[in-house]
Amino acid sequence: MKIRKRKLTLAEKLYLPAIIRGLMLTFRHLFRRAVTLQYPEQKHPLPDYYRGLPGLVKDQDDRIKCVGCFLCEWICPPKAITIKSQEISTNVEKGPKEFEIDFLRCIMCGYCEEVCPEEAIFMTHHYELVGTSRAEMVYDKEQLLQLGGVRRDDIKKWDRAAGKPGQQMSAAQLPEPVLPNGASA
Ligand code: SF4
Ligand code: SF4
Repeated sequence: MKIRKRKLTLAEKLYLPAIIRGLMLTFRHLFRRAVTLQYPEQKHPLPDYYRGLPGLVKDQDDRIKCVGCFLCEWICPPKAITIKSQEISTNVEKGPKEFEIDFLRCIMCGYCEEVCPEEAIFMTHHYELVGTSRAEMVYDKEQLLQLGGVRRDDIKKWDRAAGKPGQQMSAAQLPEPVLPNGASA
C-alpha cells in the first residue's frame, strides 16, 4: 500500500505554529503562582515528623545520652551503624567510644530513634549531605553529636539513680497516676 504524505505548508516547514503555541504556553504561566523554589536559597518548611539524617544528642548538662547498648546497631536494616562501647566512670557505666553511621547505607528509616531506650539518637531535619569520597560519608561520633545538638532531659534518670541531691522529682512534680478505668487516683 502506498501512503501519501501530506505536504507541509511554508509556516509548518518553518515550525511557526509550534513556536507560537510554545510561546503562548510560556506566557500563560508567567501569571500563575510559581510552584518551584529557588533552592538552595529557598527551602520548603519541613513537618515535625520529617526524617532526615540521624544524629546523637547531648542533654543540657553536656552529657552524651547514648549508653552504648548496641540496640540501634542491631536493629538498623542496612547495617549502617558501627559502635564501640567503653566503660565510663559515671553512674551510667557505659558509653560510646566510637559511633559511626555510614550515610551511604542509611535509608533514614528511623528505627534507631524508635528503638533507643535513652532517647539518645534522633532523626534530624538535615538532609543535605555531600562528600567527595566514600570516607567522607561516614560520620563519626563528633560529627553525629554536632548533627543532633542538645535535647533537654527533664527526667534525668541516671542522676536520680545515683541519688544526687536536688535531682529527685518532688511529689508535686510527679505525674498523676492513671487507673485502668481512666480515672485519676
Ligand atoms: S535511620 Fe534507619 S538506616 Fe539510618 S541509621 Fe537509623 S536505623 Fe539505620
Ligand atoms: S544510640 Fe541509643 S540504642 Fe544506640 S547504642 Fe546509644 S543508647 Fe543504645
